[in-house]
Amino acid sequence: MTKDKRRKTAIREMQRATGTRYTRLAREVVVPLAGQTFRLADLLAECATLPHASVEWDFPERYAPAVFDSSLIGTAVPYGTVLELAGILAQVGPGGSISLESVSPLAQAIVVCRKRRFQLVLTQDMVNELCQKPECPNSSDSWAFTHCRDHLAECGTRDLVSMARDWGHGRREEFDENPAVVGGSTDVDPLIKAAVASVSFEPVRDALLDACFGDPNLFDDMYWDASQSLAVQHAFERERLRIYEVAQAEVRRIHKVTGSCSLCGKRLFAWNPSIPPTRCPACAPPRAAELSSAAFT
Ligand SMILES: [Zn+2]
Ligand SMILES: [Zn+2]
Repeated sequence: MTKDKRRKTAIREMQRATGTRYTRLAREVVVPLAGQTFRLADLLAECATLPHASVEWDFPERYAPAVFDSSLIGTAVPYGTVLELAGILAQVGPGGSISLESVSPLAQAIVVCRKRRFQLVLTQDMVNELCQKPECPNSSDSWAFTHCRDHLAECGTRDLVSMARDWGHGRREEFDENPAVVGGSTDVDPLIKAAVASVSFEPVRDALLDACFGDPNLFDDMYWDASQSLAVQHAFERERLRIYEVAQAEVRRIHKVTGSCSLCGKRLFAWNPSIPPTRCPACAPPRAAELSSAAFT
């Protein structure tokens, strides 16, 4: 007997014994498949070959998706949800390894492929990409961010810089006709705030400005029209200032929440981007260069 059949039998038995609705029990009775790994091709094979399953939904049947009983996921899964996942993972290919993080039957399954986490919606033909922090239920604020705003600050400088570059290039492509209007989007602000908290403000700002505008020293060569060059120069300076103001506002917010230095308790006021915003200069952790020179003395 497959795990799925075992689960269904268990549900039917509980239904007979308790008189509780099948749908409610189906949400509660979980065969522990979490942690199991399979290939995308295996899930697609199930999707292509398994017949429609009948499910007692707790909403009108006409809104229900067509589903099949997946032994890999351990519950009924909409065909459309699997096809959407396959579309998103097209570049990974059918050999891509997928692991099952959690399943709530007839509600959702969370799967992970190469660090990317996806919520398979089991009541509609739908997939949502989630924050890459395990067990986080949130989505990120942008296609270019790998984590939600609560967890962006946990990403290292390298990852934040890479996200800034991706976001900036996307933004630049969107406004390629008129680069003077590339700046000003608050969509990137969660990344700037995360950079402040993780002491990565300067490299993230520089990557963002470079991806959005290019090198300001080359504006005169890039734009033959002097007025356009000037307009882009102004837009660059405006965005640089806006990013700084977003960072300053975030520092003020952090100082308000923390109140004082997390180590010595002294009042916090000024901001030095190379010091954690929760510490005073005297309690700043030694920088990497100082650490390595200290090791030789
Ligand atoms: Zn998160
Ligand atoms: Zn201190």
